[in-house]
Amino acid sequence: MIELTPNIHMFLRDDWGARRPDFNRLEKQGWDAHEAFLHHSDDSNAEAINHLEEQFAKMRSIQDFHMDVRGWADIGYHFVVMQPYGDIPYARIFQGRGRNLVPAAQQDHNTGTLAVCVVGDFRTDHLMDNTRYALEVLLDRYNDALRTLGGHGDVFPTECPGSNIRSAIPTIAGAVNLAVYKR
Ligand SMILES: [Zn+2]
Repeated sequence: MIELTPNIHMFLRDDWGARRPDFNRLEKQGWDAHEAFLHHSDDSNAEAINHLEEQFAKMRSIQDFHMDVRGWADIGYHFVVMQPYGDIPYARIFQGRGRNLVPAAQQDHNTGTLAVCVVGDFRTDHLMDNTRYALEVLLDRYNDALRTLGGHGDVFPTECPGSNIRSAIPTIAGAVNLAVYKR
């Protein structure tokens, strides 16, 4: 676990028990992704996932789904963020695919991007201020090469990441000096 700030913690692959990826099929892109894209997991019961062990299990289930059902080499996203439901005071960040690897997240628009998913259905779920802050902390940390922030729907016909994340993109981008992605 890494303390990005005293309250915003990132849990690493070993913390949540990630499976070994299919290294032969992972493609390197280096460390200079210029475009970050936000996603939601489209889970209708995200508020039931609030303790650390449940969040670790959620990470394993996302990875299993991406590898076993989608047929991808690893979990598709570079990072996953979970909101602070229940008695959990702060949003948590979980490490996904290696940041120097091409993600599997925005079909036909993956190379050179950073893919971040928030667990929930943000057509209806409210993006909490603390979750927004966690996204800002995360993007700021990896901001050296980043230039733009967008939503999945900017590059693919999908409602992802949901209107409640989409409407927060200008605020988040402004907080970390990124431009809002324009197609
Ligand atoms: Zn998406």
